[in-house]
Formats: sequence, C-alpha cells, structure tokens
Amino acid sequence: MSDDGKRLFGTNGIRGIPNEDLTPEFCMKIGKAIGTFFGKTIAIGSDNRLSNSMIMDSVISGILSTGVDVKNISILPTPAVQYYCKRNHIPGVIITASHNPPRFNGIKCIDEDGTELERTKEEKIEHIYHKNAFKVASWEHIGKEILDNSAAELYISGVLSKIDVEAIRKMKLRVIFDAGNGASYRTTPELLSRLGASLVTLNANPDGLFTSRESEPKPSNLKYLIELAKSGEFALGIAHDGDADRAVFVDENGNFIDGDTTLSLFVQNYIREGERVVTPVSSSDAVDDICKERGAEVIRTRVGAPIVSRTMIERKARLGGEENGGIIYGDHQYCRDGAMTVGIILDIMAKKGKKLSEIISEVPEYHITRKTIPRKNDFNNIKAKLLKIFPDWNVDETDGIKLRKDHDWLLVRPSGTEPIIRIFAHSKSLGASQQLCEEAEKIIS
Ligand code: MG
Repeated sequence: MSDDGKRLFGTNGIRGIPNEDLTPEFCMKIGKAIGTFFGKTIAIGSDNRLSNSMIMDSVISGILSTGVDVKNISILPTPAVQYYCKRNHIPGVIITASHNPPRFNGIKCIDEDGTELERTKEEKIEHIYHKNAFKVASWEHIGKEILDNSAAELYISGVLSKIDVEAIRKMKLRVIFDAGNGASYRTTPELLSRLGASLVTLNANPDGLFTSRESEPKPSNLKYLIELAKSGEFALGIAHDGDADRAVFVDENGNFIDGDTTLSLFVQNYIREGERVVTPVSSSDAVDDICKERGAEVIRTRVGAPIVSRTMIERKARLGGEENGGIIYGDHQYCRDGAMTVGIILDIMAKKGKKLSEIISEVPEYHITRKTIPRKNDFNNIKAKLLKIFPDWNVDETDGIKLRKDHDWLLVRPSGTEPIIRIFAHSKSLGASQQLCEEAEKIIS
C-alpha cells in the first residue's frame, strides 16, 4: 500500500495480498493510525488465514505503541468479533478477507456498537496514516496485550438467547454442516449441539489454504454437502463463507436454497405490522410481496452490507439482509451473522413444525439469474444502450441502473473494486430470468 494519500479502506475494509500490499510495515502503521484514532482499548480477532499471525502481530504492535491496550480474542467468525465489541462497548479490528481466495487477507475496523466503521471515521484513520500524525506513548505508557477467550461463549449464548431453544431441541434434528475450513469450525458446531442436533461436520478443520472447497458458499463449491444431503438422512445442510457472516442452506432432499429465499423466509416469519425491512435493490420482489401482505414497509438501498446495517439503524428497522445469505437481525446485532441465520431458520422450523422444503414452498417464488462480465465500456454508454432497448421500463438509479416492467427487472451495476459489471435478472420463472440475463449480456458486451 502506498503513502500517496489514496483511499485505503474499500467497501469491506482494507484488502490485499500479504507481503505485497499488506506488508508488516504497512500493517504496523495502520495499527498506529487505528490506535491513535480510537484512543481506548481495542478488541482484535481474525479468521484462520495463513498470514494472520504476521498481520495481527504488526497491527497489535502499532496499536500498543500509541498507548492503547489490545484485547486479543483470537480466531472467530467476523460476527462473533462484532458481538464482542457491541457487548463490551469497545471498538475492534478483524483480520479477514471473508470469502476471497486464500492468497488475500484484510483489515476491517468495528465501532463500539459492533457495526462496521462508518466511512467518515475510516477517512479520519486514513488521514492520520497519510499525515503520520500518530500518538507516541512514552515507555511507561505503552499499551498491554490481554488475551481473552470469552468471546466464543458470549457469541453462542447471544444467539441462543434470541431463539426458542427448547422447541428446537425437541425436533432432535440430524444436521450436516460444512465449515469450508473457515473460522466457524468451533462456534457453529457448538451452537448446533446445544440445540440438540446430531451433527455431521464437513471441512471443520481450520485450513488457511481452503483445501477442501472455495470459500464462497455457492452450489458449485458445495457439491459434497449437497450430495450427502440427497441421502435423505438429514433435516438440513448448512454452509458458511470463510468468516461466517453468511449462511446458506440445503433442504432435506438435497436442494440448494439460495440466500434470497432465506431472506424472504426470515422476513415472512419475523416481520410485524408497521415495521420496516431494509434490503438492497438486488434482492427479489418476494420481500415486497410479503411486506405488502403484512402491512410493513420495504426500504431499498445500494448494494453492500454496511449500507444496509447503517440504514437499519437510521430508519429504526429490526430486519434486513442481502440476497447472498447475509441476514441482519437487529434484535441481535446490526451486522450480517451466519450463526444467527442458522438459529433463525431452526427457530422457524420449530415454530411451524414443518420440514425445510415445506416452509420454503410458502415463500413467493421469484428467480434471479446473476452474471459477472468484464467491463470494457464506460458505464454511461452501457446505461444509454439499456435505456434505448427498454424504453418503457421503469428506471431506478439507486445503484447502477435497475429497469423494471411488472415483476421482470434487470439490475446492471459496475463493481466498486474490480473492472467488472454485475448483471441481475429477475422474473417469475427461472427460464424468463435466464433469458433476460442473456439479453442484457448481449447488449452490454
Ligand atoms: Mg463473509
């Protein structure tokens, strides 16, 4: 990372390749900026990537030099670190690259309420970094590193306190869980056993190379989980991404349930009349149908979990989430939370006394086909072309461009971090959404 005054924090913290972008020197300097900015005890945790010790030790060293103490809470899912910050009212740092390939790592800051740090505060840290405006403690005031192993227990109890544990235990579920070699290897199995589930775990060995499967919880990476679920021996299958802020599910027949359907299921069963749900423009119309029926309001935002969380707080919404398996339950905490999502789905199954496939069939059916293509043209040209080809479609420019006719819509947005365009095509049937997606791809390329 250079010192030329440029932005360091992206949409999800600082990401880069260790010893290329994330050198020990850079990480220590960022630690100094973070310590200077917060000026009070900071919690630090990580996922289980190979470079974590190097990065974490450098960040800690930088923080301690500013006279600030560090609570090292070790390897945990991202939402467990956030929950620790929220409950202890202290800021935090997480060393993680979420679902990115193993060569990447990252540094993310958390505010005292457990939410991802606001952009304006990140800018202050960047300013301190670029100006070398670090606090330097005298030798007798250098910070102390305190090891604290209470965070996992705090997190699991927090999730359990939000669901009907007895009702779930009575179901005596047989569950298959895929940790994908990631940071959830301890917490989610522990949560499931306390919920009385008999458990088969896959890839529950932490492995920074992610040898068993890629970290993104999509069907092509979950073939073994789906295959085993098809045996009919399990009530459901569960998988997280690397840092376990997201969860996806497989039903008792081995059918993959996408994150969009899980979000709808959550809203359908947890929403109360007069409440608000916050979700980006990329999730399906099912949420709108459910809220209309229940007398609730849907607030649509730009894509990105921190934006959804922030809007939930501002607009006093208890429920929110994204279409990629990231559910945000404000009664628990205002961030995406994989283990909480698991608790919610089991809670719904227990309350309804039904199988997962039966509950899913009650969600309004829509399909979204997604595609990523290289960005060759200026986005304004792409927009002009789309407007010309769909002249009578309703236009929404909350994020990229969203064109709508009834329940058919097309969302085209440039990625904030890579030279790519993301296409989302939504329709009542899978065939129609696939066709719309193909059409958009032809127009854009
Ligand atoms: Mg993640």
